[in-house]
Amino acid sequence: MKAEIIAVGTEILVGDIVNTNAQFLSERLFALGIDMYYQTVVGDNPDRLKEACRLAFSRADLVIFSGGLGPTDDDLTKETVAEYFDVPLLFHKEIVDEIKQYLNGRYPLSNEKQAYIPEGAAILHNDHGTAPGVILEKDGKIAVLLPGPPREIVPMFIDKVEPYLKKKSDFVMESKVLRLFGIGEAKVGETVSDLMDGSNPTVAPYAKDSEVILRISAKAESTAEAETLIAEAQRDIEARLGEYIYGYDDETMAKTTVALLIDKKLTVACAESCTAGRLTAALGDVPGVSSVLSESVVTYSNEAKMKYLGVSAETLAKHGAVSAETAEEMARGIQKTAGSDIGISVTGIAGPDGGTKEKPVGLVYVGVCYQDEVTVLKLQLHGNRDRVRHSAVMHGLNLIRKRVLA
Ligand code: ATP
Repeated sequence: MKAEIIAVGTEILVGDIVNTNAQFLSERLFALGIDMYYQTVVGDNPDRLKEACRLAFSRADLVIFSGGLGPTDDDLTKETVAEYFDVPLLFHKEIVDEIKQYLNGRYPLSNEKQAYIPEGAAILHNDHGTAPGVILEKDGKIAVLLPGPPREIVPMFIDKVEPYLKKKSDFVMESKVLRLFGIGEAKVGETVSDLMDGSNPTVAPYAKDSEVILRISAKAESTAEAETLIAEAQRDIEARLGEYIYGYDDETMAKTTVALLIDKKLTVACAESCTAGRLTAALGDVPGVSSVLSESVVTYSNEAKMKYLGVSAETLAKHGAVSAETAEEMARGIQKTAGSDIGISVTGIAGPDGGTKEKPVGLVYVGVCYQDEVTVLKLQLHGNRDRVRHSAVMHGLNLIRKRVLA
């Protein structure tokens, strides 16, 4: 089955709201093994909506519409789709009763519009709003009309549309995400290029915020069959790129690091300069971190580095605040002050100003003190201030992981 999505609403076209419904529907359709090649956004205009409808049905068997089912005059999806399918809209008294119940007895006359449903269509009751959804099948084509507000479309799709689509589809789609750090997208692509040529499972890499994501997807008649296909490809990829894989599916670098620290019962303390608390915040985003995160200091000035971390004046004078020597003393200093198992330090030049020929913007040192030994990484990071700081956090967390796993 081929599907398309048409999101209706001028507010999406002008950028007032982000089309999160399309993202949600794409993910869910993909998981159902339904192919999708096009998506459309169209304003609240009946002629353009009709044209979008005609084009989508010329290419797809299933078109999912989001939005435009409300009570106001510019809500035109149902009317336009009914006209396209050449079916009349019929009044449903039970919908009026449901709307009344939802609105605690109130029934604004404008809501009457929502009680009209294309003839022959299935009605999807809306538990979170007044607009019912609609499934209309005619001449081998299926139109699914869903309300725009995410709090309405999400439960309606999951509870009512998915069971319907599952019955129509002979396939399931499963996928697995592998998360890699410390290697570029091009290198990953080269390493798995033979797997990327396959059609089932498919293997696709993409770069995302200093990491590379590899998605393995398989289509099969049963979940177990799809999972077997994925597991084979996964083993193959792990054999080639295992050293770079830090997590799977929705595991973040911080989640993986915290899980490792909890598992090994190790505490960590952070001394941050250019990341100004961002590394600590990343750890703090993970539930359960309190058992492993002992304390952190943000030491921007040289004075603070000396006062809180015991970095020596000589080191700062001789090598500067952004240096391997300072990073090493910061990591040792915070580990000692906190009495934690691990001390981590970050010092660097996030930019856009402050770089020199010897120490350019993006130069960052990350240090990890563990078992009395300090490892310092010298990094030359790219991108704007935000990217440099984000990458520094990722490298810092990854270094903790590497040291603990070594
Ligand atoms: P209502 O009954 O609330 O009028 P509706 O089905 O008519 O619902 P719209 O009027 O198109 O839907 O949208 C209502 C609201 O839903 C929008 O103002 C917006 O906040 C949200 N919304 C609509 N479309 C999308 C979308 N594609 N992604 C995310 N949010 C959306």
